[in-house]
Amino acid sequence: MTGQRTGNRNVLVLGGGLAGVACARRLGDEGIGVTLVDRNDYHQFQPLLYQVATSQLPAEDIARPHRVIFRDHPTVETRTARVTELDLAGLGLTLSDGEKISGSHLVIAAGAQPEYFGVPGAAEHAFPLYSVADAVRLRLHVQDLVREVAEKRLGEDALDIVVVGGGPTGVEITGALTELMTALVAMERIPTSGRIFLIDRGSRLLGAFSHRSHQYAHKRLTEHGAEPRLDTGVAAVHADRVELGDGTAIRTRTVIWGGGESAAPVVQAAAGLGTGRGGRVDVLPDLTVDGHPDVYAIGDAANIPAGHHGTLPQLGSVAQQSGDRAAGNILRRRAGQPAKPFHYKDKGIMAMIGRNAAVAEVGKHRHQVDGPLAFAAWLGVHAMLLSGVHSKVDAFMSWAWDYFERDHAAIVEWSTKPHRIVWGDDDADVPHISLGRGDSTTSAGRS
Ligand SMILES: Cc1cc2nc3c(=O)[nH]c(=O)nc-3n(C[C@H](O)[C@H](O)[C@H](O)COP(=O)(O)OP(=O)(O)OC[C@H]3O[C@@H](n4cnc5c(N)ncnc54)[C@H](O)[C@@H]3O)c2cc1C
Repeated sequence: MTGQRTGNRNVLVLGGGLAGVACARRLGDEGIGVTLVDRNDYHQFQPLLYQVATSQLPAEDIARPHRVIFRDHPTVETRTARVTELDLAGLGLTLSDGEKISGSHLVIAAGAQPEYFGVPGAAEHAFPLYSVADAVRLRLHVQDLVREVAEKRLGEDALDIVVVGGGPTGVEITGALTELMTALVAMERIPTSGRIFLIDRGSRLLGAFSHRSHQYAHKRLTEHGAEPRLDTGVAAVHADRVELGDGTAIRTRTVIWGGGESAAPVVQAAAGLGTGRGGRVDVLPDLTVDGHPDVYAIGDAANIPAGHHGTLPQLGSVAQQSGDRAAGNILRRRAGQPAKPFHYKDKGIMAMIGRNAAVAEVGKHRHQVDGPLAFAAWLGVHAMLLSGVHSKVDAFMSWAWDYFERDHAAIVEWSTKPHRIVWGDDDADVPHISLGRGDSTTSAGRS
């Protein structure tokens, strides 16, 4: 196949995350031919990654094979391959085996990668939390440490953890880890909880939220034993410690990186793509790339204009809605109509700080709510996101209420098989998760 170009009239979609799936689904609904290419044969639902990392959910529950998602869409072909190059002029992609494919349109939905901002040692020693494989690696690492401490082969300080980044990812994983430690101590699995530090160079947690939410997050986390260290950055990460910008150091075997993200490498390396902040593609209001009316960039891979307010944030609902709009514009242009600008329907911003502790800011004036009401908002938005990839959203809802109200963290941490959501799937619907690092994973489905 090396170097050979396979042309067809399908729309080519690079990436089967929330953005790519929404785009392919809408086109498939209209009977349009689509080839969706992803390096994994499954979609990964990132908003539930920290539940996998803290043993609340098994990895299979948040990964869904693309062929299962599209089994009722016969015009959507899914291919598992790593894309190495984009060809904007030729509307094509080069795959890692050298094969070149092209289509009628190219939709770039390749998402993001962790951004370490050049911090020495971070890429080598920190645990990112961006993929299912990342979440499983972190879970196995923490489980090993818990076991070693429980069996007294390591001292209690081996469980000290540093979380980098006080945004939603950092806050959510910190909240879940403090609860896990508390539960393990209560069950006498470990003598004392590890210390959990949350580092941010800014002066507050959840920076994009309101002052009230900053205070709420800070209070809830410190009540549960977390130790926020604000106004200081991370200078270097080593296997056994983190150096901070204020000259101090924290001894730790576990650094979790929630410090930022930038566009996927294949996007940043593409010739002729106008990339801006975060290496993302600067798109026009109709989501096309300037000078390339048949090339779209959506979701986390794109800087999408937000009217007079800069660009939209990297959120699941932005990804899903932009995927739907890109498909809508492809359909309109095929019908000889002009493309429409993308208008984001704001679903609010929210974070789960722990069981029974969530914060949400919703509505035009960003009304702040916390506690069960915020959890209900979180649940509504996440059920909507999940409905794009799963038909059994009610099973997720009942798991989530149980999760919110009950504390079984330590039980699941100790068992190697966390309880599954009752999806009612057959075995063939369960993906095989490869734990390969970086973007070179090609995994085969179980069927
Ligand atoms: C830990 C975490 C928690 C989050 N929580 C929330 C939340 O609570 N609410 C919310 O709204 N948003 C949340 N987000 C953000 C949200 O998940 C993302 O904005 C959204 O998933 C982006 O979708 P996407 O399709 O653009 O990218 P992705 O979901 O990243 O999909 C990109 C796809 O492209 C594929 N790909 C990349 N490069 C290649 C290549 N070279 N070859 C082949 N395939 C490739 C990848 O395998 C992947 O499947 C969270 C994100 C993270 C990381």
